[in-house]
Amino acid sequence: MKKRVIVWFRRDLRLADNPALTAALGGGFDSIVPVFIHAPDELGDWAPGGAQRVWLHFSLEALAAQLDSLGSRLIVRTGPTQETLDELIEESGASAVYWNRLYDPLTIARDKKIKKHLDDSGMETASFQSHLLYEPWTVETKQGKPYKVFTPFWKSVRDRTISAPLAAPNTMPQVWSRIGSRSLASLDLLPRIDWDKEIREAWTPGEDGAHDRLEQFLDDAIENYDNDRDRPARHGTSYLSPHLHCGEIGPRQIMHRLEEWLDEHSGKALQDHAASFRSEIGWREFAHHVLYHFPDTPEKPLDERFEAFPWSGDDEGLKRWQRGQTGIPMVDAGMRELWATGYMHNRLRMTVASFLTKNLRVAWQHGERWFWDTLVDADLANNTLGWQWATGCGADAAPFFRIFNPARQGERFDADGEYVRRWVPELAKLENRHIHEPWKAPAKALKAASIRLGTDYPEPIVDLKASRREALEAFDRIKKSD
Ligand code: FAD
Repeated sequence: MKKRVIVWFRRDLRLADNPALTAALGGGFDSIVPVFIHAPDELGDWAPGGAQRVWLHFSLEALAAQLDSLGSRLIVRTGPTQETLDELIEESGASAVYWNRLYDPLTIARDKKIKKHLDDSGMETASFQSHLLYEPWTVETKQGKPYKVFTPFWKSVRDRTISAPLAAPNTMPQVWSRIGSRSLASLDLLPRIDWDKEIREAWTPGEDGAHDRLEQFLDDAIENYDNDRDRPARHGTSYLSPHLHCGEIGPRQIMHRLEEWLDEHSGKALQDHAASFRSEIGWREFAHHVLYHFPDTPEKPLDERFEAFPWSGDDEGLKRWQRGQTGIPMVDAGMRELWATGYMHNRLRMTVASFLTKNLRVAWQHGERWFWDTLVDADLANNTLGWQWATGCGADAAPFFRIFNPARQGERFDADGEYVRRWVPELAKLENRHIHEPWKAPAKALKAASIRLGTDYPEPIVDLKASRREALEAFDRIKKSD
C-alpha cells in the first residue's frame, strides 16, 4: 500500500470527470487529502475579482459538502502554494500530489516551478487534462503555427473523438482528523456590504447547480438556441459560463451529455442548434488556445498597430458606462444587468464593448478590467478574447469599422423593449418605437411616459453618429502608420 496523495483542487471544483481525483482513487493510496489553497497574490492583477470571489466562496462550500457526504473533507489553506503544499506533505505524510492543468500564463509559470520543486524533493507528481477538450500544444496549422482564426481552428478539431467523462466516486477515504483546515469564512471572499444579494438569488454555484443548468438548457432552450441566443430578454442560452470557469462542470461532460440527449431527440433543426452550441464551446477552446500561445494578450493587443491608437482617456465617460448612466438604453440595460446579477448577455457584451472602445474611445483594457471585477464568469481567456474581438485588435476580431449602433441592436434583438424595460425601469412606459432612442422621442411621448430627459434618465453622453465618424478617423491614423 502506498502512502497518502494530495489532490490539489484549483478551477476543477467537481468530483465527476475529475481525472486527478480518479487517478488518486485508483492509485493504491491509503488516503487522499483534497486541498484548496487560496493564494490570490500568485495571480497578480488577475486574482479573482469581486463577483468571482462570491462565486468561489459558494462553489467551495458546495464542494466541501459533497466531500463530507462521501466521508472525506475539503482542506482549505491560505498562503504561498509551494510552502503550503510542503506543510501539508509534512503533516499528512503524503508521497504524491495530483492536479488538473490550467492554461493561463501566471498559473503555468507557478505550476512548473512547483512541479520541479516537488519532483526534486522525491515526490510523485501527476497533472491531467480536464479543463479543455484539446490541449493548446496539440492543435496547429499546417505551417506549425497557432490558429488565429476561429473557423479553421474549429474545423481542424471538432471531429476529434472526445473521451467519455469519468464517473464521480461513491465513497472516499477519510482525511486524518489532525489535518487542520481553515474555515471558508476566513478566506474573506464575501463582500462586507451586502451587494451580492441578486447574484446569490440568480445562481447556484457548485457541481449540482452546473448539471441542473445544463439539464434546464437541454429541456427548455436548445431547441431554439440559434435564434434565441441573440435575444437578451429570453433565457435562450445555457448560463454555464461561471460553472465552466470554476470547473464545476467540464466541457467533455457537456459534449457527451449533449450527444446523449440528441440520441433521444431527433430532427434536422435540432442538429443545427446543437452545432451552434458546440461551436460556442469551441470559441471557449479557441480563447484558451490564443491565451496560451499569446500570453501577453490580457494587457497587449494582438494587432500591434493598436498600441498607437489615440484613446480618448474619457474618465467621466468610463464612469457613466460603468454605472449604466450613458443615456443609451441598450448600453445602460446591459451594464445594469451586469452590476445586479454578475452576468451580461453576450449580445450586450459585444454592444457595450463596442460603445466603450469606439463611441467613447476608452481603451479596451478599462472595460476588460471592469468586467473582470463584476462578472461571475470572469475568465482570463474568454474575457481577453471578447474585448480584443470587440475592439478589433485580437484574434479573428470583428473589423474595427464594424461599430455596433446600440439603438439598431435594440431594434433588432429587443424589438419590444422588454430587456430595456427590465433593467432601465425609468423608461418602462415609453412606447416601443422610442424605447431605444428616447432622445429622438417627441416631447408629447416623453411626457406621456413621465420622463424628463436629463432628470429622470440621462441625455446621451455622446452623439452616436459623430462619435462613430471620429472613431473611424482615429482608426485611419493607425492604419496609415502601418
Ligand atoms: P452559451 O451561449 O450558452 O455558450 C456556452 C458556453 O460557450 C459559454 O458558457 C462559454 O463558456 C462559451 N462561449 C460562448 N460564447 C463565447 C465566446 N464568445 N468566447 C468564448 N467562449 C464562449 N465569457 C466568459 O466565460 N467569461 C468572460 O469573462 C467573458 N467576457 C466576455 C467579454 C466580452 C467583451 C465579450 C464580447 C464576450 C465575453 N465572454 C466571456 C463570452 C460570452 O459572452 C459568454 O461566454 C456567454 O455570454 C456566457 O453565457 P452562456 O454560458 O449562457 O453562453
